[in-house]
Amino acid sequence: MSNMPNPSMPPLAIDPPKTGKMVALADDLYWMRFTLPFRLNHINLYAFDTKDGWLLLDCGIQSQAIADQWQVMLAGPLAGKPVIGIIVSHYHADHVGYAGALAAITGAPIYMGAVEHAQASWSLAQSDAAFGTIMGDTYARFGLDGDIVDRIRSQGNYFRKLSGDLPDVTIIDTDHRFHSKSGIWTPRFDTGHSPGHMSLSDHDRKLHICVDFLLPRISPNISVSLRSIEIDMLGHYYSYLDQMRHLTDDWLIIPGHDWPYFGGGVRAAELIEHHNTRLDLLRGAAGTGPITTAGAMHALFAFDLTDHELFFASCEARAHLNHLVAREEMQIQTKDGIDYFHLG
Ligand SMILES: [Zn+2]
Repeated sequence: MSNMPNPSMPPLAIDPPKTGKMVALADDLYWMRFTLPFRLNHINLYAFDTKDGWLLLDCGIQSQAIADQWQVMLAGPLAGKPVIGIIVSHYHADHVGYAGALAAITGAPIYMGAVEHAQASWSLAQSDAAFGTIMGDTYARFGLDGDIVDRIRSQGNYFRKLSGDLPDVTIIDTDHRFHSKSGIWTPRFDTGHSPGHMSLSDHDRKLHICVDFLLPRISPNISVSLRSIEIDMLGHYYSYLDQMRHLTDDWLIIPGHDWPYFGGGVRAAELIEHHNTRLDLLRGAAGTGPITTAGAMHALFAFDLTDHELFFASCEARAHLNHLVAREEMQIQTKDGIDYFHLG
């Protein structure tokens, strides 16, 4: 998943903010970093300084540790001005999880795109039994081992463990503009890493907050959704990357994880190449006979996976298989409840 550092993608020469601090990326844009209990051990959150108060971007998971970190920020660097809004880029728990609680503390509205809001609402609405059944059935179709399938069935709704309820969400679209003190931010919505992910650009200052779509170090997870495991997520992501390839090197790319950097166009080209290589791996793996999603996952991810990682790895493998089906290079056949993919 990691890539070698590319000299054409210089990081912004600035140290990441320490716990409880924020660092200015522009005179009206601040970078915060919260710790997370995952392999990806942190998330970057942002605060826009507006004439009416703070506009925040993304929230962290719902947990005591995240609550404590917000308390330190609200009582420290963010004190003295009201929070006037909370933007949530996409439905993944590390971005949306604490949004409801943060809205309750600050009284600020939450802003989301319609697709991500629908996805988050669906995920939150599933009972433990329903979620376990969907996960178990999906893993069975993937051809994962029976003990994993059984374990996941009894795990319940893992999303609800990391995400709180989402009251009073204001839905926005591409016509919406967020105004900070020195800039105007235009949202765009893309499918790939999630179904309707919001990123934000200030075109005059060439600032692009890509959140999770153009990360500098790791390849963003490209997964099918439990709601529609047939979707060609990778095809949509390729469309996004194809557009971002034309970003000039003077744009500052501001991500949801790791560090701000220049060279977003180079990174987009690198990610296109990365996924092309993954597709080649799967063409090779299917060369000796049909493969399951589990088989594709083992071909792509050759290291031990926690249950949390297994979810993203298997859904990413499936997204790559779906793309080969969309390109009419593979066909899918279901036998005894398991999906098999074969060339031709
Ligand atoms: Zn994400």
